[in-house]
Amino acid sequence: MEDKVVSIEEKKADAELMSAWLGVDELIIDPKLLFDIQTLLCYYSEFLCPNDEVTVEYPVEGIPCASVDDKRVMIPLKPLLEGKVDNAISSVIHELHHIKHSLGEKEICQTIYPYLHKVLTTLETEHCGQKMCVWDVVTSEGTIHSGEIIDRTSKNKYAPFMYTLMADLFLLMNAFEDIRIDEKQPTNLVKYRVKQEEECFNNFKEHLDTNLPEMNDFHGMLFRSLFHYKGWYDDLDVAKYNLSPSLIMDSDAKGLYPPVFRAFASLVQDLAGGLWEKFREETGTGFSAIDEFMAQELGGDDGNFGDGAKECEELEIGVKPTSSCPAPNSEMSSFAREVAEEDIALMYGDTEGYEDKGRKVLSQDAWSEIQAFKQIQHTKCREKMENYPQGISYDTLVVDTYA
Ligand SMILES: [Zn+2]
Repeated sequence: MEDKVVSIEEKKADAELMSAWLGVDELIIDPKLLFDIQTLLCYYSEFLCPNDEVTVEYPVEGIPCASVDDKRVMIPLKPLLEGKVDNAISSVIHELHHIKHSLGEKEICQTIYPYLHKVLTTLETEHCGQKMCVWDVVTSEGTIHSGEIIDRTSKNKYAPFMYTLMADLFLLMNAFEDIRIDEKQPTNLVKYRVKQEEECFNNFKEHLDTNLPEMNDFHGMLFRSLFHYKGWYDDLDVAKYNLSPSLIMDSDAKGLYPPVFRAFASLVQDLAGGLWEKFREETGTGFSAIDEFMAQELGGDDGNFGDGAKECEELEIGVKPTSSCPAPNSEMSSFAREVAEEDIALMYGDTEGYEDKGRKVLSQDAWSEIQAFKQIQHTKCREKMENYPQGISYDTLVVDTYA
C-alpha cells in the first residue's frame, strides 16, 4: 500500500509549556516550529542518552515511537499535526528514557515467556475429548519460541492466541516499567509528563467512575496500578498488592518481573483462559459433539483436572478450567491499547492493519521547508563604535543557501 503524504496545516498549537520556555505567548504549527521541536528533541536525546547513538526522526503515524533495540525515537506526527506540541515532547522524553533504562523489546518477550508458560500450564482445557493444559495443546502443534512471537513468524496454529496474550503481558510489564522510569526524569522536564498524564488520568477516571465492576479485570487493574503508583489517586485494592512505589522505583528492569507476575497471577490466568476460549470460539476449534462424546468415554465429565494442568507454586495459583475464565473485556483492552499506543505499537501496531492502511508521511516539500532552517546560522556579535564606546550588541543571521 502507498504511503499517504500529508502537508502541514498551520494552526494554533497546544504548547503552553514550550511557549513559556521559548518566552512567547502562543505558537503556530508551521515548518519553523517543527524544525525547532526537532532541534530541541535532538538536544534532549544527546543529554538524556549521552552514551547511545539515538536517532530522532520525523515522524510517521502508526509505527513505534521508539525502539530500544534499534535506538530510534520517532516524533509522532499525529499529535503534532493536531497541534499537541507539549504532548509530543512528553512522549519523546519518555521514549528516550526507555532507551536509557529499559530492556529491549526482544529481551522483554524472552523474560515474559517463562511466566506465560507457567500460567498456561495451570489452565485446563478440553482437547479432542481429553482434559489437557493449554500449554500442551498449543505445543502439540509444534514449539513456539519468544523470538517467533515477537517476529510473528510462527507456523503454530495457535500462534494468534499466543501473540495476543504476549502483547497483553508486554503491556502489563510496560505499565510498571513506565512507573519505574518516569521517576528518573530530570525535574525540569517533569512538567511535560504531568500535563500529559493528567489528560490520561481524567480519561481513565471516567471509566473508573462509570464501569467499576469491569475495572477489576486484568486491564482495569493494570490502569488502576499505573495511576495509583504514579500518585494520581489512592486505590485500596491496588494497595493490597505486595508491591510498593519504592520497590518499583528501586528495582532494575528485570527485578520487576517476579513481584509483578505474583501480584497479577490470577488476573493473568483469567486473561489467558478468556482469550483461549475466545480464540477457540472464533476459529471453531474446541468443543464439538464428537469432543463431548469422547470426553465422556474417556472418564466422564466430573471435572477431573488432575492430569494435564498443574498448580503453580511460584505464582500461587491453582488449576483453573478455561471455561470458567471471564470473557476478555474488549472495551478496557482497547482503551489500554489506545493509551499505550506509542509504547506497544511494536507489539500491536505494525501487524494489526498498519501495513494495509499505508503510513502517513510528511510531503517532500514540507520536509525540505523544515530542514531549510538548518541553513540559518545565528551569531551574537558585539562591537565598539565611535558614538558607543561601551559597545553595542546585535544578532546576525547567516543564510547559507549553498549548503
Ligand atoms: Zn513507556
